[in-house]
Amino acid sequence: MAKPLTDQDRRKQISVRGLAGVENVADLKTNFNRHLHFTLVKDRNVATKRDYYFALANTVRDHLVGRWIRTQQHYYEKDPKRVYYLSLEFYMGRTLQNTMVNLALENACDEATYQLGLDMEELQDIEEDLLIACFLDSMASLGLAAYGYGIRYEFGIFNQKIVSGWQVEEADDWLRYGNPWEKARPEYMRPVHFYGRVEHTADGVKWVDTQVVLALPYDTPVPGYRNNIVNTMRLWSAKAPCDFNLKDFNVGGYIQAVLDRNLAENISRVLYPNDNFFEGKELRLKQEYFVVAATLQDIIRRFKASKFGSTEFVRVLFSLHVQVAIQLNDTHPALAIPELMRLLVDIEKVPWEKAWDIVIRTCAYTNHTVLPEALERWPVDLFQNLLPRHLEIIYEINRRHLERISKLYPGDTDRISRMSLIEEGDVKKINMAHLCIVGSHAVNGVARIHSDIIKNTVFKDFYEVDPEKFQNKTNGITPRRWLVMCNPGLAEVIAEKIGEDYIRDLDQLKKLLEFVNDDAFIRDVAKIKQENKMKFAAHLEAHYKVKINPSSMFDVQVKRIHEYKRQLLNCLHIITLYNRIKNEPNKPWTPRTIMIGGKAAPGYHTAKMIIKLITSIGDIVNNDPVVGDRLKVIFLENYRVTLAEKIIPAADLSEQISTAGTEASGTGNMKFMLNGALTIGTMDGANVEMAEEAGEENLFIFGMRVHDVEALDKKGYDAVSYYNRVPELKQAVDQIAGGFFSPSQPGLFKDLVNMLMHHDRFKVFADYEDYIRCQERVSALYKNPKEWTKMVIHNIAGCGKFSSDRTISEYAREIWGMEPSLEKIAAPDDPPSRTADELESCHCS
Ligand SMILES: *Cc1c(COP(=O)(O)O)cnc(C)c1O
Repeated sequence: MAKPLTDQDRRKQISVRGLAGVENVADLKTNFNRHLHFTLVKDRNVATKRDYYFALANTVRDHLVGRWIRTQQHYYEKDPKRVYYLSLEFYMGRTLQNTMVNLALENACDEATYQLGLDMEELQDIEEDLLIACFLDSMASLGLAAYGYGIRYEFGIFNQKIVSGWQVEEADDWLRYGNPWEKARPEYMRPVHFYGRVEHTADGVKWVDTQVVLALPYDTPVPGYRNNIVNTMRLWSAKAPCDFNLKDFNVGGYIQAVLDRNLAENISRVLYPNDNFFEGKELRLKQEYFVVAATLQDIIRRFKASKFGSTEFVRVLFSLHVQVAIQLNDTHPALAIPELMRLLVDIEKVPWEKAWDIVIRTCAYTNHTVLPEALERWPVDLFQNLLPRHLEIIYEINRRHLERISKLYPGDTDRISRMSLIEEGDVKKINMAHLCIVGSHAVNGVARIHSDIIKNTVFKDFYEVDPEKFQNKTNGITPRRWLVMCNPGLAEVIAEKIGEDYIRDLDQLKKLLEFVNDDAFIRDVAKIKQENKMKFAAHLEAHYKVKINPSSMFDVQVKRIHEYKRQLLNCLHIITLYNRIKNEPNKPWTPRTIMIGGKAAPGYHTAKMIIKLITSIGDIVNNDPVVGDRLKVIFLENYRVTLAEKIIPAADLSEQISTAGTEASGTGNMKFMLNGALTIGTMDGANVEMAEEAGEENLFIFGMRVHDVEALDKKGYDAVSYYNRVPELKQAVDQIAGGFFSPSQPGLFKDLVNMLMHHDRFKVFADYEDYIRCQERVSALYKNPKEWTKMVIHNIAGCGKFSSDRTISEYAREIWGMEPSLEKIAAPDDPPSRTADELESCHCS
């Protein structure tokens, strides 16, 4: 009998089918050994696993270099429009496997490491989560001249430890062992100014007496999928200038001045871990200005050095928007708008009206949330001190904006104050979303329902004056990371039916509909899921000493812990199942392993209590002999991209249960759908479009729609009435409140219960009954594996829309004025088209 295929075998098959370039395994081995010797300065007697990982990473990286340089030269030669994606956070994930997949090197590296007596998968586990983003992958795969810009945080999102059921945060020292993927570029260091004062003189406005911090760029290559394109992500690190605090040599002295360099360099020390929550800290505002100021200098330098920029004879910067698009990822980089105005008006002496026209045509803004506590509103006083010139510019933008609104709606003072960029009150604040809308030519939400909500509620006034600005760009995920990399078995089974082109053209998954009744295909899809579940169960057992039943339904909710995502609704279902099993232990229950994971923002007390509740429920349920294998509750510690890549391919059921109208899009929902999990969810965010694409009958949709939530708000939501009316709900709530799950601290969850009963903004109880009924349907279907898997196939076939390639193509055509392309460019081992002399003189970074 044939041995079952391992993941490595499957990847090999994908490559064998013509996608892999013919790679010389012997060369890879030579280069691996060369890096071990010359780069890591080790021999095989003393080398550690980490050394082997670095040797492999450097070997793979060598294959990027030629393509990277060539791509940048290509952009210089062709001089296409550039798009700049500005973000204060890029999601973290590993780079090595992604690079191997996109360069078609995985098979050859697997073989080379095998021949060297090493296990490549084991080496990959050494890699820390680095910076990745679906959008950067798609922009490179679609041949767009794109740049991701952000901050090189010394400490990324914290690592989560669970201690006695509570979340404990640990600093994420990801640079400790060095990062083989980044290249420092000190020659492109830029000054960024803070504080100081504004002088209005005869020859213009001057911002003087500022403190300077230097922005040092680090470049990371972003390879496209098998198209020889390698784009750049540039992250800025803060450096104190050599003379920092030394000019006042009489205060503090030399030693103190050197010690104080930390103050400046703290700007890029740590990522703020809030999710959907605005915290008005000065250091955060400094971070936001730091990335914007450094990036805009870089954009303008590159524009002026480009062919277009250096030959355009009128006024160079008058046509910036022809060659440059800037996408603001949320309001976090909103300062790009006043900063670009400052550069144009104060430095380049462009008249205000002309400058404003350029800014609007260049900038576009993506909204990511409608939760009021998440919207950035910075106190004017903070600005006055830190960025005095920007405050003046914002006031002038606002003056002109309100003048326009007054002309459109004479005497409508309510509307004028609603639309102001400045909110009056105890503390005057700048509304950054309003600034972004006014300063952009396009404003988009991230799922159809979210874009509609924006137009009809939070930004209604703005929609009424500029309807043409408002767009929708439904989010997507990269099928490279979220299928080929994390679930090679499924990728292969699909490729056997429809070929491999679907990896760059995900709509082709539709072709799978032809095979919904193909017994062999159904068996293959189910088999892959079972293998992934076994593998995840083994991982849990190896790393956490937790034993789970791999034939139970894997019911998974992984995402940040937040009230609006309603992990508490999931808890109520768990308790209800538990009580039902206890009441009738001999009924044929569908066994479930319910796994919940996610980080709580360190300052978000309620979210931390939710984690403690989940782990407490687990302690009771998992140790109850009556329940046995039929129900297990696992909290997955430290949910992050690497863990997502393991759990999502193993999930049967994906929990997407936010209150309708609160989740802008979600992307986790799409990852699960693509990996063959069924969704139980509300009509919220992208779930709506997932139901449309796969057929509503192929998802488990329950609960209030947005209009029901609004109606309930009008009527007044009364949680207690549900509690009194629904006995199983009452029992569950009483158990939480009475200390059933926290016997040593009976009052532990009283605040949580009080919130649910008296001030629950997210109406958990209102959806309880329908959620429980829907879960009963889920359990019933799971008893019929064939019907379950057919539904899975309908879902996978409906996933095409959720490729970030589709999302980015829409941004390109409808916002950036660029044309995506699946063309390859020349590989670097082709004869070079330019001489060394020509290379000397080109500005290709
Ligand atoms: C995709 C992803 C998310 C987003 O999940 P949602 O369910 O859309 O909130 C969060 N964290 C990680 C690590 C992810 O990979």
